[in-house]
Amino acid sequence: MLKDLLKEVVNSIVGKQAEGVVDLLYDSSYINEFIIAKKLDVTINQARNFLYKLSDFGLVSSIRKKDKKKGWYTYFWKIETLKSLEFLKGVLQRNINNLNSQLNSRETKQFFVCTRCNVELNEEGALLNNFICPECGDVFQLRDNSKLIKEMKKSIDKAESELKAVNDEIIIESAKVEKKHVSEMKRGEKKKSKERAKNRERSKQERVKNKKSSAGKLKDSSKKKLVKKEKKKTAVVKKKKK
Ligand SMILES: [Zn+2]
Repeated sequence: MLKDLLKEVVNSIVGKQAEGVVDLLYDSSYINEFIIAKKLDVTINQARNFLYKLSDFGLVSSIRKKDKKKGWYTYFWKIETLKSLEFLKGVLQRNINNLNSQLNSRETKQFFVCTRCNVELNEEGALLNNFICPECGDVFQLRDNSKLIKEMKKSIDKAESELKAVNDEIIIESAKVEKKHVSEMKRGEKKKSKERAKNRERSKQERVKNKKSSAGKLKDSSKKKLVKKEKKKTAVVKKKKK
């Protein structure tokens, strides 16, 4: 179901020839653009062309890696499932709104047709032409909208059930993203607390080391002080003698 929905999105933006990109990118992480082109049996430029189009809408994303030997960049692509679903949701909602307003106008307004020319006008238009077809001169007839209304209602039902499916998938996908986010955060926290523990251990060791070395220095400096004191004493003694 999700795959079909994603294909519908790709189809609406790039066209049917690119639908296969969903099969390729679905359920996998980044894929090399050259592999995408090969698997879809298109040139690398064609592949890039529709991948860029999709990325303009945020429906796919890429990372690039530099080939150390050749020095150029290769792009790797992945599908952005949640964004694609939200895009499709927007399309469906606009479609439903559009159909509803058309339905409303068919239910509340009158339309006139020339059956010979297949020309249709609304009431104002028909009135302007004195209810006579400007093409052939036949008299306009009031259109029976019942069949059209039935078809529109059917289309609306279809779009609404698809919208519901999309919303269900959005809930599932959001939960997945949230779960991933939480586990990433937890992993980050673990890493941080490990680092903190490491740092604590390191600074503890450093403190011990410092204590030892400063204790050594203290000994030295106290010796020096003693020497100084001794010198002062002898100086005083010398002064007194004078
Ligand atoms: Zn006519």
